[in-house]
Amino acid sequence: MKFDLNRLVRENVRELKPYSSARDEYISDGSKMVFIDANESPYSNGINRYPDPQQHQLKTLLAKTFSLSPANILLGNGSDEVLDLIFRAFCEPHKDNIITMPPTYGMYKVLAGINAIENREVLLTESFELDVDKILESKNSNTKVIFLCSPNNPTGNSFSGIHIENLLNNFQGLIVIDEAYIDFATKSSWLNRFDQFPNLIVTRTFSKAYGMAGLRLGVCYASEDIITILNRIKPPYNVNELTQRKALQMIQNTALLEEQITEILAERDRMVRQLAEINYINKIYPTDANFILVKVDDADKRYKEILESGVVVRNRSTQPLCDNTLRFTIGTPKENETLLKILNSL
Ligand SMILES: *Cc1c(COP(=O)(O)O)cnc(C)c1O
Repeated sequence: MKFDLNRLVRENVRELKPYSSARDEYISDGSKMVFIDANESPYSNGINRYPDPQQHQLKTLLAKTFSLSPANILLGNGSDEVLDLIFRAFCEPHKDNIITMPPTYGMYKVLAGINAIENREVLLTESFELDVDKILESKNSNTKVIFLCSPNNPTGNSFSGIHIENLLNNFQGLIVIDEAYIDFATKSSWLNRFDQFPNLIVTRTFSKAYGMAGLRLGVCYASEDIITILNRIKPPYNVNELTQRKALQMIQNTALLEEQITEILAERDRMVRQLAEINYINKIYPTDANFILVKVDDADKRYKEILESGVVVRNRSTQPLCDNTLRFTIGTPKENETLLKILNSL
């Protein structure tokens, strides 16, 4: 069967006439025009004008960085908004379903709930790998999207490229690969594979390696056709002026970004070696991200002890396949040292 994007789009979205904002027509930036079209305040203070709804400057920079076209990019108020837009464009409430692979990022399930979409869960294998046969068995004609998180949160591993490619080739719905942690990974990204896989969507965020969780900026990369559909339903001014400006400025400092990633990776290796020496840590899972999942003797007890010493880690024990696990984010060398001291004192 051939991939048919039109079949996947919700009927109301297909027929929707998008809101046309004043700033869609002209961009005020650097222009000599007089703008009295949008009922804004005329008094300049840096933010009195509506932001560029298509974020041209940011997209141009990202497109150049990743050898794509701006038409392959949609920006959102965090990747959470981007993921929500995917639901709203393609998943019909009370009718369609998605597939997720726990243990994984919690937002896919929450968004499915909000959008009244059935979430079909297919557990990862014991080694946290995709169970491709089970995933393909659990789909039906109303399965619109499969959400993969690679590197996966909270397990830390990237999935096998062969498994992912197998899914891309054998599923006629959309496959979202959430690459929130890709900057820490050794495995290569799925960006630039849109020509080969028209059903592929890659999401990224500026909240992790890029150090801008407070800005709320997420990115969706996909074929032009998919981006066009998402553009029809996004709120016109979903990425505010301050976010666009600050992100532009920070993204250009690639030296700082690389330096920080290098330090996080070195610290991650050091932490893995040190954690291996602690007798109540029974397992350290392989990681391709900026965190480490460990299995301890009694996660609730250790979590409390660490907390009482002034450090907040994440207890993932309630997640399937994650009994007695804690997740440690890699901090600064000093923060990591603090955690190690506490762990060694227990
Ligand atoms: C942290 C994280 C995100 C980031 O979401 P934002 O809304 O962009 O901050 C996305 N996906 C995964 C798997 C994450 O762990």
